[in-house]
Amino acid sequence: ALSLENVSHRFGKLAAVNDVSLSIEAGEFICLLGPSGCGKTTILRLAAGLEPLQGGIVRMGGTVVADRSVETPPEERSVGLVFQDYALFPHLNVEKNIAFGLSHLSRGERKSRVLETLQQVGMADYIEAYPHTLSGGQQQRVALARAIAPRPKLVLLDEPFSGLDVRLRNQIRDETVRVLKENGTATLMVTHDPEEAMFMADRIAIMREGKIIQLATPSELYTKPADPFVAHFFGDLN
Ligand code: ATP
Repeated sequence: ALSLENVSHRFGKLAAVNDVSLSIEAGEFICLLGPSGCGKTTILRLAAGLEPLQGGIVRMGGTVVADRSVETPPEERSVGLVFQDYALFPHLNVEKNIAFGLSHLSRGERKSRVLETLQQVGMADYIEAYPHTLSGGQQQRVALARAIAPRPKLVLLDEPFSGLDVRLRNQIRDETVRVLKENGTATLMVTHDPEEAMFMADRIAIMREGKIIQLATPSELYTKPADPFVAHFFGDLN
């Protein structure tokens, strides 16, 4: 669904992303895991088209969406985003928040898609509610619904559960994986929490200083860490 080939990105002298290659299949869930500042969010922004590509190639479903000469805008990339700075629109109710990305559908189709998606995340009873009347976890569910309602090929999640308390976080992690798998969506999620990555991901890309150090399944990372840096990440989970 998504492939990044030798993607690099600088902010001034800083190599925020340094020659990263990664590809995600439909239905696959990959976590980018690493310490603060290692380039995780920048990779999501490059995949979404929110940051102009400086080097490398980005493909979606085999088609080049960004390289030296092409720069497809975010809304034409079939991506759904759940980012902290893409909060729900406060002045729109849940229905309108989700319908916002569905302007290509007829009114009837839009209404049924909104309902169907809210049912998937267990929020159908809140269709008329305004965001400020919802709990953090409920807002998070609606944000996921908004991202998946247009049925994107790829969903990008940036630390989506960081504001939630521990119990709620575990529950929403499970639900999120279930919903994305049901839809066959490819997912790339940023986290700095190894436990979260272990629970949710099919594969985990461990990052340090703009590079992917190891990309493997949770059990491979645990049993065969490529270096002490990777081992350290999972050492605390015993
Ligand atoms: P965190 O977990 O703290 O969100 P991250 O791994 O997502 O970190 P990025 O946000 O991708 O890291 O940032 C990578 C590096 O690029 C950091 O050193 C950051 O300070 C720098 N950076 C990010 N965005 C910009 C920007 N717009 N201008 C200048 N530097 C930036």
